[in-house]
Amino acid sequence: MPLKLSDNKVIGVLNIQKREINAFRENDKTLFSAVAQDIAHTIERSRRYEKAQKEAMFDDLTALYTRRYFLESCSHEYSKVERYEKNFSIIIADIDYFKYFNDTYGHAMGDEILKKLSSTLKANVRQGDVVCRYGGEEFALLLPGIDKDGATIIAEKLRSVVERELIKETRDSKVVTITAGVATYPEDGKTVEQIILSADKYLYLGKESGRNKVVNTAFGNVRKKKDEKRVRGRYKTAIKIARGTNHIQSIEIKVNDKDWKICAIRDVNEKGFSGELEFDGRIDYNYVCKVVTDAEVHNPNIFPIRIAHAEKSNRGRYNRYLIGAEITDEHDRWEEMFYLLTH
Ligand code: GH3
Ligand code: MG
Ligand code: MG
Repeated sequence: MPLKLSDNKVIGVLNIQKREINAFRENDKTLFSAVAQDIAHTIERSRRYEKAQKEAMFDDLTALYTRRYFLESCSHEYSKVERYEKNFSIIIADIDYFKYFNDTYGHAMGDEILKKLSSTLKANVRQGDVVCRYGGEEFALLLPGIDKDGATIIAEKLRSVVERELIKETRDSKVVTITAGVATYPEDGKTVEQIILSADKYLYLGKESGRNKVVNTAFGNVRKKKDEKRVRGRYKTAIKIARGTNHIQSIEIKVNDKDWKICAIRDVNEKGFSGELEFDGRIDYNYVCKVVTDAEVHNPNIFPIRIAHAEKSNRGRYNRYLIGAEITDEHDRWEEMFYLLTH
């Protein structure tokens, strides 16, 4: 008896046998046909159910988990850590200027980027982490058992891998970057909803303060308190960035069209830095500097500076100057970096 679906498609055969010849009567056929139809309908129903389950679980375009599955996983994880006093972290990442990307390169290329980004994210986390497409071009990751420092390192790795790898996918090397917010249970919230809200808030702070970065704290608010006290002290060149992930290697100043000169740093504070520098000619007021860190990818932060004072150093026979440089960056990126460096 054929097993037929409702559209008459045959998906199998029901085979009934007996040793004796002519063992079946005509009305047995009616019975077997009803049984076959029943089996076919059951298979059809279970296939539909599986398909619906899969659709609820996986996103069509990217094959990542859906937001719904992500939220279920978060609740599950929450009920586990609540009992055992453990951590979990959530990263929410959003593509920078993606609307512009779509407008410039087309929606199809945009979709390609979403797919490529999805596999990049998945390839760079552990098997047990849940990576989901949270919204259009927004992604969320659940990292079970990972504390804030660990999650920050992972987010920073994802940010730099995206910056490095997604560029090659586009025709004229348009940079694709992401901004991410990192929040951890229990310090950023007592419920899953609160932690997601915190991650979202940090993401927003990252967008507001220049994009292509990882934010794991509401530094905007904390900094105000710090400003009252003023951070003092000598940090030399080994300064902690982003909670121990990076260190400053050097600060270089662009002295003409093509040359950068390393400044031997003496002091760094939230307004700028001081240090020794060799200058051939006359010192001007306005320059740009680049802050090189030992992060995996060299992605120097470039800031405009004003030389606030310069004094010839009498050590050595070169034109060495002791300079005090003030960062004149209107986006407050230096201040944020300085905050991250020193906390
Ligand atoms: P921001 O840096 O502030 O995040 O800028 P943005 O342009 O990325 O921000 P916004 O959230 O305003 O825009 C999101 C854009 O993402 C809008 C839409 O064109 C695009 N987008 C959302 N879903 C998809 C999708 O499935 N495919 C493609 N190609 N684009 C999408
Ligand atoms: Mg965006
Ligand atoms: Mg968005």
